[in-house]
Amino acid sequence: MAYKVAVLPGDGIGPEVMDEALKVLGAVSRRFGLDFEYREAMVGGVAIDERGHAFPDETKEVCDWSQAILFGAVGGPKWEDLPPEEQPERAALLPLRKRYELYANLRPAVVFPPLISSSPLKEEILGKEGFDILVVRELTGGIYFGQPKGIFQEDGLRKGVDTLVYYDWEVERIARVAFDAAMRRGRRLASIDKANVLTAMVLWRDVVREVAKDYPQVELEHLLVDNAAMQLIRDPRRFDVILAGNMFGDILSDEAAMLTGSIGMLPSASLGDDKGLYEPVHGSAPDIAGQGVANPLAMILSAAMMLRYSFNEEEAARTVEEAVVSVLEDGYRTGDLYRGEGKLVKTKEMGALVAERVAAER
Ligand code: NAD
Repeated sequence: MAYKVAVLPGDGIGPEVMDEALKVLGAVSRRFGLDFEYREAMVGGVAIDERGHAFPDETKEVCDWSQAILFGAVGGPKWEDLPPEEQPERAALLPLRKRYELYANLRPAVVFPPLISSSPLKEEILGKEGFDILVVRELTGGIYFGQPKGIFQEDGLRKGVDTLVYYDWEVERIARVAFDAAMRRGRRLASIDKANVLTAMVLWRDVVREVAKDYPQVELEHLLVDNAAMQLIRDPRRFDVILAGNMFGDILSDEAAMLTGSIGMLPSASLGDDKGLYEPVHGSAPDIAGQGVANPLAMILSAAMMLRYSFNEEEAARTVEEAVVSVLEDGYRTGDLYRGEGKLVKTKEMGALVAERVAAER
């Protein structure tokens, strides 16, 4: 049976990098005998222009049908003056997360050895291998959504309130995603909390500890978030999988991303129980859109995550990731990675190089 994939290229460089991801999936399909059925739909600014809404009904239908959603990027100067709730990112991504209960956000932060010099960290901290961290962030709960929330009047004063709430089942399901991910990788998990001052985080720590009993092969540590933020810079190589709630995960995943030094390389996955959404971390890059120079590797690596997490095709996922490393090792660079050495290539060439290597039997 074919794997059903919704293809939502979006705006700016979205369609350019999506084409290359599909090129690479074509090579995967031929090499591994996998069958993909694609349906393309509009999302973001382009959908506002054509259909009056960033996430139109026909796009919802395509996403409902699919098992996995490949998402390019949305937004751009053309739509920046719309009211906030109609802005492409808010009107497309948030409803997508909500509709499919995408509660687990997975963001790898990897410094590939050929790109070590892009990291702002010193080489003695990075070593020869760089680092490979996966941040698993809870995406639908915690302080961003807890009630009560608002600015209230109290005795003539204004009071701003946000509430940190986690139910045990919410912590359990995100912890299972993180432990499962750790089992596929280095089998080490750092759970981040602030259990010394936040009661909800005492529960967080308790539940993570209970779930850990089902994963005796995974080495678990609990770190306070302030310490984790420091350790990430002091010694990123000590981390394998990082598990965090919504707000701490938001901050730490961006910190880890910055340590890689290249936004065009960062993929992400948002997983629910029945569906996954895969998108690069970068936006629609209007400053370079239409020039054919965008780095397609974040989108290609997002497609690799789809193979791994939605379709359980681990070998195919690794093959794509190894193809990316091999192209970088041979010195090919898009403009964002180019530092005067190696071979400068455009979007399509980079995609073709990765696809060629995926196709080649090794
Ligand atoms: P951006 O990520 O689009 O771009 C930041 C900088 O990085 C730009 O200089 C850009 O040229 C460069 N860049 C990004 N991706 C690149 C790639 N693949 N290859 C080479 N260079 C790359 O962030 P921004 O400029 O803050 O936002 C632009 C638009 O994208 C805004 O409308 C914003 O709302 C939207 N956005 C969308 C998403 C999303 O769809 N998930 C995420 C972030 C921003």
